[in-house]
Amino acid sequence: MTTVAFLGLGAIGTPMAKHLARADLGLRVWNRTAARAATFAAEHKVTHAATPAAAARGADVVITCFPVSSDVESLLEGAEGLLAGLAKGATLVDCTSGDPATSKRIATRLAERGIGYLDAPVSGGVLGAEAGTLTVMVGGEAALLERVRPVLEVFGKKIVHCGAIGAGDAVKAVNNALLALHLWSLAEGLATLRKAGVDPAVALDVINTSSGRSNASMNLFPERVLTRAFPRTFRLALLDKDVGIAAQVAREQGVPAPTLQLTADLFRAAHIALGEEADHVEVVKWVEQLTGVTIEKD
Ligand code: NDP
Repeated sequence: MTTVAFLGLGAIGTPMAKHLARADLGLRVWNRTAARAATFAAEHKVTHAATPAAAARGADVVITCFPVSSDVESLLEGAEGLLAGLAKGATLVDCTSGDPATSKRIATRLAERGIGYLDAPVSGGVLGAEAGTLTVMVGGEAALLERVRPVLEVFGKKIVHCGAIGAGDAVKAVNNALLALHLWSLAEGLATLRKAGVDPAVALDVINTSSGRSNASMNLFPERVLTRAFPRTFRLALLDKDVGIAAQVAREQGVPAPTLQLTADLFRAAHIALGEEADHVEVVKWVEQLTGVTIEKD
């Protein structure tokens, strides 16, 4: 039997861990705020580990899902750290939307101990995590991915090997930069149309059967902006981080990418203005402030 540990019971980690709890994987969970892990363990009849080391001890696959790669790196060392528990031959699968440079450093450190590493960010949002239909984009050795694939299939529907270590992180960052760009540019476009006298609901009806459509136009704006619901599912702070990674990777690769750099700056400004807890779609409220137009239906 494969034994699995899951660390990081946040907005997306919790529904991912729920699927693992239902599978026969001897799941143990750890969370920085211990009460969250204790409640989860009691509800799902799995083991609550007191430290990252205790979670990793005896686990074949350890899954982490934190805000940034440096959170994972900071939990490696020390008597209570992951390395104190991880056995030779085990694999750390990092589902954080991380950055390639830190992932490479983590992989090198783990390899010194004979421990495998895959960067494996996910997409599909909280709803996809609840449905067990996430896309998992993986960087690292293809053979290692094949070994852990059955575990990833517990919460993922589409699992794609993207390349060497860091490739999963890079694909995720570029995907989310596109999400950010679509959110921002659609807000500008609909504010312009609203000012020109067009109902945003009518504009979206046209755009969604035309070439300008996107997830933002088909789902996020109709469900969250026009309704003014703005539910909190994915923090703007995390999207700011993702666009920043995409811009950083472009710079590291020597690729001129002015739109990525500009989007990174815009999202950093919106994040500073709206704070740590704002949802990513709330960036539209910031564009509304800049334009003086509220994107509301007639
Ligand atoms: P949340 O902010 O909801 O949760 C973060 C989790 O990480 C919490 O369990 C938190 O613990 C823990 N944590 C934060 N900082 C540290 C630290 N320094 N050391 C240890 N644990 C820490 O984030 P999400 O669950 O939304 O996102 C997690 C990752 O998944 C991010 O990289 C994000 O970009 C990505 N992602 C999120 C999606 C979403 O829809 N939410 C979709 C796709 C990817 P505590 O309980 O103590 O605060």
